[in-house]
Amino acid sequence: MAGYAYRHYGVRSFRLHPKLIVLHFTDSGPGSYPGVHALFNANAPNGGELPGVCAHYVVDQDGTIYQQVPLDIMCRHAIGVNDHAIGIEMIQQQGISSHWADQQILHRRPQIRSVLALVRWLQGRFHIAQKNVIGHSMANDSPLFHDREGWRNDHTDWQAQDVRELRRRL
Ligand SMILES: [Zn+2]
Repeated sequence: MAGYAYRHYGVRSFRLHPKLIVLHFTDSGPGSYPGVHALFNANAPNGGELPGVCAHYVVDQDGTIYQQVPLDIMCRHAIGVNDHAIGIEMIQQQGISSHWADQQILHRRPQIRSVLALVRWLQGRFHIAQKNVIGHSMANDSPLFHDREGWRNDHTDWQAQDVRELRRRL
């Protein structure tokens, strides 16, 4: 991770200094946590680079929160902001659209309850403002975005309109 951070951010360190929370959904084949964890744990190269993609937390549909990475260590979940962002994955298929998928989560009571509690706790612990709770689809537009290799995100998970709805519930 320190090598990735040097190539993309110019810092020779894997230490995370959280300023941002990025919301994701998995859109992966496995519909439950063991399968999702196995995907991350495989540590497969992404964009030809290691470490593999990951996220600090995964929130299952039943509301269980799994922590995969300590909060003082960066992991690869959103290009351009991994040096400042805590990543939260929610287990959800994309289905007909990202907006539809976001809405499934917003209406799934046990899961969204856990997500909101987790985000609130992280905001308090790291003094993260509401505007810095963003969706993956919004990462390229964050003032904190930077990437020395010119990489950009092309993911559509958590649309701005749905993030606004989530922020209102915080
Ligand atoms: Zn994502």
